[in-house]
Amino acid sequence: MPSEKFVFQCKECKANNYVTAKNRQNVRDRLTRKKFCPPCGRHTEHTESRNKTIQSK
Ligand SMILES: [Zn+2]
Repeated sequence: MPSEKFVFQCKECKANNYVTAKNRQNVRDRLTRKKFCPPCGRHTEHTESRNKTIQSK
């Protein structure tokens, strides 16, 4: 099944902290999750960002 990768971006510092994959057919809304942001040092809201990818280097 095709799934797309999304990056969860911290709303506060804009760091791309997490990558997740989801089935686009099942989930059409923009996801918002509370996740721990290392640069912020605390839990912040993260939103998915389609246009960004985490660089593996
Ligand atoms: Zn942050």
